[in-house]
Amino acid sequence: MKRLLVIACAILAVLTVLAAAPKSPVRLLVVTGGHDYETSFYTLFEGYPDLVWDHATSNKEAFKQNIVPKYDVLLLYDMSQDLDDKGRQNLQVFAESGKGVIVLHHALVSYQTWGWWSKELVGARYRLEKEGDTPASTYKHDEELRVSATLEHPITAGLKPFQITDETYKGMWISPAVKVLLKTDNPTSDGPVAWITPYEKSRVVSVQLGHDGKAHRHPVFRELIRRAIFWSAGRLE
Ligand SMILES: [Zn+2]
Repeated sequence: MKRLLVIACAILAVLTVLAAAPKSPVRLLVVTGGHDYETSFYTLFEGYPDLVWDHATSNKEAFKQNIVPKYDVLLLYDMSQDLDDKGRQNLQVFAESGKGVIVLHHALVSYQTWGWWSKELVGARYRLEKEGDTPASTYKHDEELRVSATLEHPITAGLKPFQITDETYKGMWISPAVKVLLKTDNPTSDGPVAWITPYEKSRVVSVQLGHDGKAHRHPVFRELIRRAIFWSAGRLE
């Protein structure tokens, strides 16, 4: 009986230490390429002691190897059409492993003909060209947007409606299965500006906002990206 008590106490002590130990930082890989951007973008990932990040300047560099062991979250800010089979496989394996993925702004234009990408992973596609009777999508810079939350979710918790100057997209294909987090009533936008995608094997967040420094330096946009990173990593419930 005494031995059992000692074992129980030892287990409790280990659990206490584990609970008190600081969690290792979330490891983020940021991918750019195929579209220019302002360097204010990099500030989105600075100032958080529980986040470390690397930068790949092209999709080819990012996915030349299996990145599952090295990263917890992938943030795509590239605009890419081409990726060889091995690269596509490495991207897909990362998503299927249950890690986090964030598809930001012009990454919604990537991989026009890769069905898995737009239909399953991202839940949307900016149409570069007209598709049958459906016209190509359109964009408009420096629009004033009123944005409000549409879903109770850890990413939108306590978020009050806000104003932001940013680029809008209109005429995108957006899956009816997405869960819209944020929407705008700006008529040059489709409405949804952030959503949880229908993908089930990992947590995937798409964000339409984020064109330039006016967004990158906007406190609510910054908080949105921070929460998306930590939620997709399973660290914000
Ligand atoms: Zn843009």
